Amino acid sequence: MSSGLVVDFAHEPDQLFIGDAPASEAHSVALGHPAGYQPRIGRTRQFTLSNPISCTGVGLHSGHPVTLTLRPAAEDTGIVFRRVDLGLDMPARFDRVIDTRLCTMLAPADRPDARIATVEHVMAALSACGVDNVVVELDGPEVPVLDGSSAPFVFLIDCAGRTEQTAARAAIEILKPVRVEENGAFAELRPSHAPGLSMSMSIAFSASAIGRQAYTMRLSEHGFRGELADCRTFTLRSEIEALRTAGLARGGSLDNAVVVDGGTILNPAGLRRPDEFVRHKMLDAIGDLALAGHPMRGAFIGNRSGHGLNNRLLHALFADRGAWRLSGRAITDQRTVQPTA
Ligand SMILES: [Zn+2]
Repeated sequence: MSSGLVVDFAHEPDQLFIGDAPASEAHSVALGHPAGYQPRIGRTRQFTLSNPISCTGVGLHSGHPVTLTLRPAAEDTGIVFRRVDLGLDMPARFDRVIDTRLCTMLAPADRPDARIATVEHVMAALSACGVDNVVVELDGPEVPVLDGSSAPFVFLIDCAGRTEQTAARAAIEILKPVRVEENGAFAELRPSHAPGLSMSMSIAFSASAIGRQAYTMRLSEHGFRGELADCRTFTLRSEIEALRTAGLARGGSLDNAVVVDGGTILNPAGLRRPDEFVRHKMLDAIGDLALAGHPMRGAFIGNRSGHGLNNRLLHALFADRGAWRLSGRAITDQRTVQPTA
């Protein structure tokens, strides 16, 4: 990390995201577009980061400090997680997911000890910001939770800058509906004639502070930055004690999660959005779907869908060879390369 930037969220969170500034002002500082920003819509080349960048924070479940470094990577690398303490690399792929009960956790099939937990928020930021190729280094078993949203990762990406590469970006085009269900919850992918991925998520909680919420958007970098990135993970007060007894959520606090008790939000500053909960669930789904390895073209519909169903949906999609195809738009200048289909 010697040549990269280092952001220490543990020591200076107020400068970046939380603080006393009104939410909209704080977010514009954190998420405003950098000079020279251009929406990535219409771009078809791959991107990596221009520089490495690091941050430190605690793991939500372990409570232990962990340093994360995002490093530029060659085209067609994809997103690769690296446990620097174990000398082990792991591609960020749906078929490396070993646990989805509280977060999305990756591990090699033969090395459950080499797990990497809570990958979804950094995955959502990388995929929504159009970073195709990056190595995510960690010196421990969990991505730092930071403020519980994707906003700190978007900030890191902006600090590092993005560099366009030569190879074309491929997309996974959904050709027919695929659906998985469990106890009335479901997750579904459908074909769509519109470009990109449209997303629809609905949730229902008995806690009246959450209740029923639904959110729909066509996924774009602009929309992710403006509408989803700052929405935090949440939990019910009644669940915290059980998690702690099980040795989990040790790093959890009101600084990195919304905590709900019936009709009450326990965080003194309240919510960032009235429907922060369903927006966070959509953020989670974006991170989980990014484990497909390429952006998707189609429509996602989730009803009370969490990490488990999101992951089962990708398994169901890729198990049906007629349900998808890999497509990439050829680039026609002298740097033309073949799509990776
Ligand atoms: Zn989450």
